[in-house]
Amino acid sequence: MCIFCKIINGEIPCHRVYEDEKVLAFLDIKPLNPGHTLVVPKKHYENIEEINEEDLIALILAIKKIGLLIKEKLGVAGYNVSENNGEVAGQEVPHLHFHIIPRHNGDGLGPWPRKGYQDGEAEEVVKKLLA
Ligand code: AMP
Ligand code: ZN
Repeated sequence: MCIFCKIINGEIPCHRVYEDEKVLAFLDIKPLNPGHTLVVPKKHYENIEEINEEDLIALILAIKKIGLLIKEKLGVAGYNVSENNGEVAGQEVPHLHFHIIPRHNGDGLGPWPRKGYQDGEAEEVVKKLLA
């Protein structure tokens, strides 16, 4: 059983911040900022490709509520919502989870470095995606 399933069934403790029939949210054990929250479906899905629409809707609605909660109760101006899909993207726990990361001015969490497109490259990408 994965570590988040163990948290969901109570085998491993967590700092719970939200719960409903389909969703659990708890503090990340290694926060990027205080209040960094993980929002997970109670049913085990490895990634966003696996989850069914009903559970995904419940998850995204919970994310919206918790984002607002974090903003209002922790007094932060903004937050990031992110999901790492696959090991190459930094996914360490193979149970779908969204990060909600509170942000402050000057918190040192820089933006990702951006790249450009070579001539014709964007057209090639779109051609592949639409083929
Ligand atoms: P990811 O890299 O997207 O798979 O994120 C996994 C996250 O789970 C990391 O930010 C970890 O700090 C967090 N994490 C791992 N174990 C626990 C735990 N027992 N309780 C809370 N968060 C955890
Ligand atoms: Zn799991």
